[in-house]
Amino acid sequence: MKDQTLYCVQCDEPFAFSFRDQEKFSQRGFDPPRRCPACRQHRVRMEDTVHNRDGRGRNRPRRRPHHDEERAYL
Ligand SMILES: [Zn+2]
Repeated sequence: MKDQTLYCVQCDEPFAFSFRDQEKFSQRGFDPPRRCPACRQHRVRMEDTVHNRDGRGRNRPRRRPHHDEERAYL
């Protein structure tokens, strides 16, 4: 395994998906990111807003560690 370059589905920009991140994602059972860090950060914020509004946050136990993970490497 080695570093990968992925393309953001949202803005079409290439971004690095490092070997270390690949390991972390697979260990936690996450799919590889489909959006670049900038778009992901935007999306996380939007999802948090939705959760707060309709109270469905508990249905997605993975979302919170995922969020922390993203902050760790940004
Ligand atoms: Zn993007």
